[in-house]
This record gives sequence, structure tokens and C-alpha cells, in this order.
Amino acid sequence: MEILTNTGVKKLRWPKLRELKEAVTVVFSPRFTTRFPAEPCVVPESYRGKPEFDLDNCIGCGACVNVCPTGGACLSQVDDLEAEPPVRKITLHYSACIFCGNCQDNCTTEKGIKLSNEWDLATFDKEETTETHEFELQMCEKCGAVVGTKKHLVWLAEKLGPLAYTNPSILLAKSSDLLKLEPGEATQESAAGGEEAVGAKDFMRILCPKCKCELNIRL
Ligand code: SF4
Ligand code: SF4
Repeated sequence: MEILTNTGVKKLRWPKLRELKEAVTVVFSPRFTTRFPAEPCVVPESYRGKPEFDLDNCIGCGACVNVCPTGGACLSQVDDLEAEPPVRKITLHYSACIFCGNCQDNCTTEKGIKLSNEWDLATFDKEETTETHEFELQMCEKCGAVVGTKKHLVWLAEKLGPLAYTNPSILLAKSSDLLKLEPGEATQESAAGGEEAVGAKDFMRILCPKCKCELNIRL
């Protein structure tokens, strides 16, 4: 189309010819899009897809839950103290994941959770996008408070090596049959209401930070 003015004709003709040239070039060029779903779509190695736990390397510490920016919508945790034994449940709802990678970057063991290359996550059943993992909890043998997961304490003992001998709670968690109370003994003591103050006899027990602090002040 041309407009019959001295400057207008020039302005409109050349852009149109350029577009025509581009269209013809594209028709005879290889395609830029993939053939998915006819062929699998290969994503780059660094692609941030579905987060996946590696349960051999996850210790249930909950650091990933704390750094997840979705406010509990994607990663959440709850300590079930009624369960026998008490457990920590960490739940991933990957339908709410924003694939930021914070969980992977801040994982305590650096290998507990990774963003995989899995990107085709569409489903008709939202339940399929939820997974829960349970970790046995270690309770304070004096007051019954949560110390952490057993896996976490064992991981700390292994990480510290000989330095773990400075902290009986960590050492005992690894050598679980060393001077260990019978199950329920600590909680019975607390429930009886006549709980004695923390003393030297509690030195070789697995204690929460509060009881440990009290013990250190008294000794
Ligand atoms: S990638 Fe981001 S949003 Fe998704 S689970 Fe990890 S921290 Fe949460
Ligand atoms: S931070 Fe790592 S080790 Fe801790 S619960 Fe999350 S994935 Fe597991």
C-alpha cells in the first residue's frame, strides 16, 4: 500500500518489503520450536524443575522449609508428638513451587533436596503434587522437649568427628545404646510433676538446649 505523499511512500514501502523478505526466509529456515509432545523436550542441565528430596542425604532439619519463600504453601513441616515414636513430617506441595532454588542453595547437607530437570508437571489430580517424608525425633531426656531429628544429630556427630566428644547429647545420639534411658522414662519424670532440677547425673543424657544450658550453669 502506498500513500501519495513524497515522504509517506518511502516510509511504508520498505518496511513492508522487509517483512515479506523475513517471512520468506522463515518459511525456508529450520524451525525454532521443539516438536513436544511428539518428541521429548530436552532442557539445559541447569534447568530449575521439580524439587526432589534425596532421602539418603536429607536429615529432616527443616532449613529448606525456613528459606522457602512461599510461606508454607510449598514446603512445610510439623512435629507430630502424639506419634509413637514422635516424628517430624516435612511436606512438599510442588504445585505451589516457584522454582527459586532457595531450598537447594541452603540445604544443610547440600544434597538433601535438588531442583531436577523434570518440568512437565501438569496433572488432573492435585494430590499427586504432594509428598510427605517422616523423620524420627529425638526428645530431651530431661524435659521431653524436641531436640531435633535423630538423623540430624547423627549427621552432626559424623561431621564433628572427635569434636563430638565435647557434646554428650550429640555423641549419645550416635551411640544410641550408651547409657540411654528406657523409652518414656524422661516423659514419665516430667509428667510426675516432681521433676528435679538438672544436675550432674544428667551429664550423660541427650538434652535440649534449655536443659543443657541449665546443666552448664550448675556444673
Ligand atoms: S524452589 Fe523455592 S519455592 Fe520451590 S520448594 Fe524450593 S525454596 Fe520453595
Ligand atoms: S535443608 Fe536439606 S537436609 Fe534439611 S530438611 Fe531440607 S532437604 Fe533435608
